[in-house]
Amino acid sequence: MRIVCWNNGAESGYKKQRRNGNSFMSLAKKVLKQYFGYDSFREGQEELIESILRKQDTFGIMPTGAGKSICFQVPALMMEGITLVISPLISLMKDQVEGLNQAGVHAAYLNSSLTAGQYQKALGLARQGRYKIIYVAPERLVTDAFLDFAMQANIAMLVVDEAHCVSQWGQDFRPSYLKIVEFIEKLPKRPVISAFTATATKEVRDDIIDILLLQNPTVTATGFDRPNLYFAVQSPKDKYASMKNFLQMHPGQSGIVYCLTRRYVEEVYERLKEEGFSVTKYHAGLGDGERKANQEDFIYSRAEIMVATNAFGMGIDKSDVRFVVHYNMPKNMESYYQEAGRAGRDGEAAECVLLYAGQDVVTNQFFIDNNKDNQELDEVMRRLVAERDRERLRKMTFYCFTNECLRDYILRYFGEYGSSYCGNCSNCLSRFEEVDVTEMAKGIIGCVQASRQRFGTAMIVDTVHGANTAKIRKYRMETNPYYGKLAKAPTHKLRKVMNHLQLYGYLHVTNDEFAIVKLTEKSEAVLKEEERIVMKMAKEEEHPAKAKKEKSRKWTIGVTEDEFTKTEEEMFERLRALRTEIAREEKVPPYIVFSDKTLVHMCIVKPKTKEEMLSVSGVGEFKYEKYGGRFLTCVQGESKTPLQATGYQTCSAAEQRGI
Ligand code: ADP
Ligand code: ZN
Repeated sequence: MRIVCWNNGAESGYKKQRRNGNSFMSLAKKVLKQYFGYDSFREGQEELIESILRKQDTFGIMPTGAGKSICFQVPALMMEGITLVISPLISLMKDQVEGLNQAGVHAAYLNSSLTAGQYQKALGLARQGRYKIIYVAPERLVTDAFLDFAMQANIAMLVVDEAHCVSQWGQDFRPSYLKIVEFIEKLPKRPVISAFTATATKEVRDDIIDILLLQNPTVTATGFDRPNLYFAVQSPKDKYASMKNFLQMHPGQSGIVYCLTRRYVEEVYERLKEEGFSVTKYHAGLGDGERKANQEDFIYSRAEIMVATNAFGMGIDKSDVRFVVHYNMPKNMESYYQEAGRAGRDGEAAECVLLYAGQDVVTNQFFIDNNKDNQELDEVMRRLVAERDRERLRKMTFYCFTNECLRDYILRYFGEYGSSYCGNCSNCLSRFEEVDVTEMAKGIIGCVQASRQRFGTAMIVDTVHGANTAKIRKYRMETNPYYGKLAKAPTHKLRKVMNHLQLYGYLHVTNDEFAIVKLTEKSEAVLKEEERIVMKMAKEEEHPAKAKKEKSRKWTIGVTEDEFTKTEEEMFERLRALRTEIAREEKVPPYIVFSDKTLVHMCIVKPKTKEEMLSVSGVGEFKYEKYGGRFLTCVQGESKTPLQATGYQTCSAAEQRGI
């Protein structure tokens, strides 16, 4: 993973501070182990924590799932005083506070989900110094009640989570985020400010530093790669059958199926339900109540599979999502990476599969041409936006057609350099052969030229293939000298070559609604055979079931699922059942109790004593005291023990928050 760390060029200053930092950092490691049960920091975390502990403003840019929260939660526990965390979404706050409470940290949230009475009570407890970390909605900051509290409190740090919300450049601009600066200015003493985000183009990054008035901040950006995600693209004849096959191979796992339209959601949901899958659904056409209930069913793992449109997901922090299947190709790579990125936030292996069909392009085109979101724009701007959207759609389509490493394609799209082989995507794991397609390329380019660059992709492919359609006859394409020249090549292959030619600049498609194929300065060389076109073609279409067999699930903990013995598999299932039971008692989602990774590690370590249990990654002291004993018993093979019998006291998350 690439890490860039800078502090306005003050590298040497940073190094000088290191000696001091060392004792801080060994303490930070202890805090990490004690509360969160982890043995070591992930990349980027140490730099950020050290900077905060030096009381330096700090700005962390890390992809989803990289572990941003730890970067401010660990120093918050070490600093004298309270840490305020500004977060835009109620669901995010709730999730984080529940996680902290389960780890034994006193934390609370202040937002509109509390009744007036609960809010007053929480604020009262905050005044008494009950909480170390308080999550607060930005619009609350400058209210009288909150200011009254903040003026008296010892605020050590202010954390701006999802910091891109301050920038108008981003997609998620929230005017209430601008209140943060106003709030800071009102405080009697300026706390350390830290900001975190997963999205940061240069404009957004500069905006965050400027708007939040960060003072000489340490900026740490880790790469956007998510190595634990496996990427795959398939173009199956029967999407539903293909998806069903995939789901059958992932029993008991949490996953999301994204569809482009409500109609698809309903259709897929109904069929899956009929076939007995544990499934729920989400789209903007459902009532508020139903949406909320379905979302909770998924988060609390009462339903395994969520079938949804892109309306689902914002603020969903469920860390144990093991797969994201795209039933349709989304509109652009930004959406795809964001949606697929909801898999594997816990850092464990997860799969992102995109099921492509030509119809997806048509549907997306339709959305672009009929976009109602841009009504307030003038005609010129609307056209520009539509052109940009078409270009993005094209880049998305190329992703579905490329035979190169998919991860590399994604990273390049976002301006990073990957390597040409990641070993964890369907292209890297398929066998390809290099095929000389110059003849096909000549036919296609020749046809574009002979028809005077007036037609779109489909017409060109149909012409060289020699199709006999009404459209061909209407435009008299059967008289084109290239008509039927490539009749022997299957159309899907011709389309692949066509895409390859566009991707590498031998042809160009206009960005307007007509999407006309045009020649480029590179076209001529192909026609003259000065250049040969060689591209990778799949040797054999891999059968999904076979592919899965070869690629058994690999836990990052170092074993594959196949290496699990039968005993361990049974143990894992027992532990999972116990986790569900405890989650129910605690009224929190199961992944808040322990992550899958922690359970897997438990199966490997097979702890017999408290010390051995504490050596399991993710088991901190507080959680051990709360339910460690029950898990110990469970590892020994005795199934779930009733709560009373173990003598372990638990209190609900709400009780701990004191509200
Ligand atoms: P982000 O906010 O960057 O999307 P989170 O803070 O939600 O990511 O962290 C993602 C997951 O990684 C959580 O389950 C968290 O407990 C885990 N995690 C964070 N830091 C570490 C670490 N140092 N070691 C092991 N797991 C970690
Ligand atoms: Zn790859």
